Amino acid sequence: MTKNVEKHVDSCRFCWMCRHICPIGNATGQERNTARARALGLSLVNRGALGLEEVIDNLYECACCGACTKECVTGWDPVLFVKQARLECALDGVLPDYIEKLVNNCIERQNAYGVLELDEALKDAIAAHAQKTGTLLFLGVDARCRVPNAARDAIRLLEKAGVVFTVLDEEPPSGQQMDYLIGRAEETKGQMENCAKTLNAFENVVVYDPQDAKVFKREYKELGIALSCGVETFPTFLAGLLDQGVLKGSNEKIAAVYQDPFELSRDLGETDAPRKVVSAYARYSEMLMHGKDTMWAGNLLMREWMPDVMKDVARMRIQNAKGVGAAAIVTASVSEYASLKAAADPDMQILSLEELILAAEEKNTPVSGTDGGTVYAGQPE
Ligand code: SF4
Ligand code: SF4
Repeated sequence: MTKNVEKHVDSCRFCWMCRHICPIGNATGQERNTARARALGLSLVNRGALGLEEVIDNLYECACCGACTKECVTGWDPVLFVKQARLECALDGVLPDYIEKLVNNCIERQNAYGVLELDEALKDAIAAHAQKTGTLLFLGVDARCRVPNAARDAIRLLEKAGVVFTVLDEEPPSGQQMDYLIGRAEETKGQMENCAKTLNAFENVVVYDPQDAKVFKREYKELGIALSCGVETFPTFLAGLLDQGVLKGSNEKIAAVYQDPFELSRDLGETDAPRKVVSAYARYSEMLMHGKDTMWAGNLLMREWMPDVMKDVARMRIQNAKGVGAAAIVTASVSEYASLKAAADPDMQILSLEELILAAEEKNTPVSGTDGGTVYAGQPE
């Protein structure tokens, strides 16, 4: 490990101040799932008392959500040492089989899930936007491979708003899955550089998945991978459409909370734009642990090796929403959307931002837009 990373490991005071905010630790109730336990394990590896392979499974029980980093009293970064240790495992060839399979899929099939063919209806929706324009809607691997209905809704919403945009038939991976699985390996950087070339052919990129937005706006910068295009998150783009009066909002509002994806709120500091959108369509309140303090609600990638824990993580978040009397959780993360849906609580609606908006805007009267698209005017009844 680099000296800097060793310093992070050794700086953990094992004080337990981050213990209560780990979504995985809270779901499993196991001490091994906290940042503290991981630091202790790696500290023993650094001193030669344990082999890396003895702590490797525990390293992959971390979501890298950064809640502990934010809370850490020493100001050090558990996510940094977890990702560095994963990279060491990859370089030493001691990755667990269940992770190696996903990494190989990322390299050979461009997505960790090994999906080769997209959903037919999604392919049709994408084909309708094959023509090159100035704006790219970047869907990301989770939406394309695992939640095609969400990808189609995102496309449909921009169509209804009269936005002229492109969606790529063969979208390169952003590198976010590789970054999570093995950190900043050469292969990860290679995917990122390749993706940057594609993005830079556009003036603006609207990024649907917060996991991609985070790497575009943060990791690419840290790795010196230049993006000459504008990069906007999907909620910020939608907030702009509201400002322009293209989206109108709704008078019929359900009681909802917003599930902040940590990539947007904690990593990119984006908390206002999604709230502006949600509050235009929902009677909105805050649940426990929101904004930069958000509690992660699970994801699709970790579901590959920890499906039951992902359900428990999501169920705990649903309880937080019930605690403030919400009837719905609205999320801007396609991965958390799928995770919350899989928890299948009959008393809680799980809505993507686009589902929330489409339900209201489709009641409006369509009128022709100036660019030949369609905009929606008039308030819903
Ligand atoms: S990064 Fe998140 S999942 Fe990992 S130890 Fe910290 S709080 Fe837990
Ligand atoms: S708050 Fe920081 S120092 Fe304390 S146990 Fe957690 S990671 Fe270690």
